[in-house]
Amino acid sequence: MRDDAVLVTGGAGFLGSHLCTRLVREKYDVLCVDNFYTGTKRNIAGLLDAANFELMRHDVTFSLYVEVDQIYNLACPASPVHYQFDPVQTTKTSVHGAINMLGLAKRVKARILQASTSEVYGDPVVHPQKEDYWGHVNPVGLRSCYDEGKRCAETLMFDYYRQHALEIKVARIFNTYGPNMHPNDGRVISNFIVQALKGEPITLYGDGSQTRSFCYVDDLIDGLIRLMLSPADFIGPVNLGNPGEYTIRQLAEEVLRLTGSRSKLTFKPLPSDDPVRRCPDITLAQSQLNWKPTVPLEDGLKETIAYFRVLLEES
Ligand code: NAD
Ligand code: UDP
Repeated sequence: MRDDAVLVTGGAGFLGSHLCTRLVREKYDVLCVDNFYTGTKRNIAGLLDAANFELMRHDVTFSLYVEVDQIYNLACPASPVHYQFDPVQTTKTSVHGAINMLGLAKRVKARILQASTSEVYGDPVVHPQKEDYWGHVNPVGLRSCYDEGKRCAETLMFDYYRQHALEIKVARIFNTYGPNMHPNDGRVISNFIVQALKGEPITLYGDGSQTRSFCYVDDLIDGLIRLMLSPADFIGPVNLGNPGEYTIRQLAEEVLRLTGSRSKLTFKPLPSDDPVRRCPDITLAQSQLNWKPTVPLEDGLKETIAYFRVLLEES
């Protein structure tokens, strides 16, 4: 076993469970902390017997006293449906959670990585988005609990860095997909695949011309670990995502093709503040982390479809 003890908050969620799996495989001593708000024990069931894995039910809005060397702070609902269900709790999780994890990092002198988001750019007017773009964010809309919570968490990270010389890393994650996504979290890839497999209508919001860039989870986890292990003077923020940009309609057609489904497209109103275009500039990650995504959308979608087929058969 490695000497390093690693805390993953939100470790039972979609990204957290993949990160825990990778870290356990790499022989870190992994502590997964989660309150199971959107995460599930199923996601980490395969890790429970590992000698170097430990699970703790805990809400990061409360203090946590453990001894660790690295902290990946992922705890926060990430899909619009889930983070808008209890917006006050979303802000608390982002802001109080960041304060608590930064306080822990300060006490035990741990390196801390914050899972930030492309949502800090809001509905961007600059394309593709680079890290020096400050964003175009509505502070009082339905997405604000998440966008502003995450922006404040970035501020806290940088203030702890400047004020207390903490070792910080800030990753701005763009739309990521793969196995272990929650089937009802309302995100576009899970929605479309579940709808296609059930033969239900594919719900396109607006006219489906808005764009997103989809990163397969294995690529993203590789980027997060590279960032955590990068030299101390590289702190970010750094975009992690796949620069391949697709309209939501193109995505729907690709899901229909790969599932062989006969579902029809149906059009619903566009949610408020839904970004029109989103695409990362990953030049910084390429130069500083020697990282770029390698999994094509078709391959990643096939893996994800296979996961949802099993999940739907089980339920
Ligand atoms: P997820 O909802 O699957 O996982 C979040 C996890 O955090 C869940 O297990 C949930 O139970 C847990 N959690 C929520 N509130 C908590 C609290 N107060 N205390 C302890 N645990 C809590 O989402 P995800 O897609 O895995 O996202 C993980 C992180 O990555 C989030 O911080 C999210 O903002 C960020 N992110 C994800 C994406 C993406 O496309 N998946 C994009 C940008 C940013
Ligand atoms: N979307 C859609 N149909 C769905 C779910 C989402 O057309 O069933 C659209 C949504 O309006 C947005 C895009 O797909 O433009 C991505 O949505 P998601 O919730 O996955 O993430 P976001 O990038 O908006 O946070």
